[in-house]
This record gives sequence, C-alpha cells and structure tokens, in this order.
Amino acid sequence: MLKTIDRMIAGFRSFKAAYYEQRPERVMTLVEGSQSPEVVLIACSDSRVDPAILTNAEPGELFVVRNVAALVPPFENDGRYHGTSAALEYAVRDLKVSDAVILSHSNCGGVKALVAARNGSVSDRTFINPWMSLMGECATDADPDVVSKESLKRSLANLRTFPFVQAAEAAGYLRLHGWWFDMKAGVLYALNEKTGEFEARA
Ligand SMILES: [Zn+2]
Repeated sequence: MLKTIDRMIAGFRSFKAAYYEQRPERVMTLVEGSQSPEVVLIACSDSRVDPAILTNAEPGELFVVRNVAALVPPFENDGRYHGTSAALEYAVRDLKVSDAVILSHSNCGGVKALVAARNGSVSDRTFINPWMSLMGECATDADPDVVSKESLKRSLANLRTFPFVQAAEAAGYLRLHGWWFDMKAGVLYALNEKTGEFEARA
C-alpha cells in the first residue's frame, strides 16, 4: 500500500494532467496574469475540512488562510507577527476580493482543547493556549459545537475591527459570511447575521 507521501506525489501527477495537459490555456492565464480570486476564506487547519475540496474550487478562485480553529484576531497595529491579519490585508486591499468567508466546523480539536482547558486540563503548549484564548470564555460544560458557532460570530466581529474591512464593507465592495460545516451530517450552514441563526445552505 502506498504511503501518504507517495500518494501525494501521485496526486500531483493527476493534478498536472488535469490542468497542465488538459487545460494549458487556463494555467497560462493564471501564471501570466496576476491572481484575481474573488473570495478570501479563513478556515481551520484541520485535515478534514480543506476548503478547496469542500467547495470544489479551482486554482485561482480562493485566497485561503488556515489556522487553528479558523479564528480571526482583532486588528492590532503593534508591529508583531500577524500572519492571518497580513493575509487579510493583502486579500482585501490588494486583491480587492468581494467576499470574505470564515469557515469553521463541528468536531474541532482546537475548540475541544479550549473547553478542556476551561475544565482544568493543563497543557504545556506554548502557542495553542494564547491563540485559543481569542475565542473568549466558555462554560465548563459547554458543547464544543456551540462554542465553535459563538466563536465564529466573534471572529466576524474581529474581522470588522480592521479599518480596511470596515471601509470596504461600508462602501458595499465586500460582503462577510460566516459558514459552519457539520462534518458528521455533511451539511453546510450559513450564519444569518440578522437573526443570529445558522441556516442550512447545502
Ligand atoms: Zn478545527
């Protein structure tokens, strides 16, 4: 049986056949022009929720930022190392995307770690705990999926603390979306910001 790393190389061969051999014009358009994705998508690093696979996207369509639990930090102009913020800045100010999607999901390991920490579980991880504290407080008996949905709302609020996001949204150039993927049921929900409810979309 092939090891995963060998299957990845074989997978690249299929990718190459599908794009470089069958649709070379498409590839050349992407390579010779600059990228012009219409969507920036913030997703979890979880191996089970790859946004390009979930949305059947093609190269050039999605500008993706992935981090633990699909969190958006608040705008902080402190000269530190803000990877997610840098990607958002580039997507909104330079690529001028028309839509920003935060995609989080059920069964999220990051969220479970947060709930476990609230229950007194001690972790010696250097970076995970401060990062997960972005999600805020949660009850010790909290359902991780409920925490995840609340966190998605918080990330949307944080997204709006970036002046360039605020400006683009106010001018009608940028739409924000909160999506939540129920992995077990295979259902994609979208947050209705007017009602605060998650509505099944697909
Ligand atoms: Zn996750």
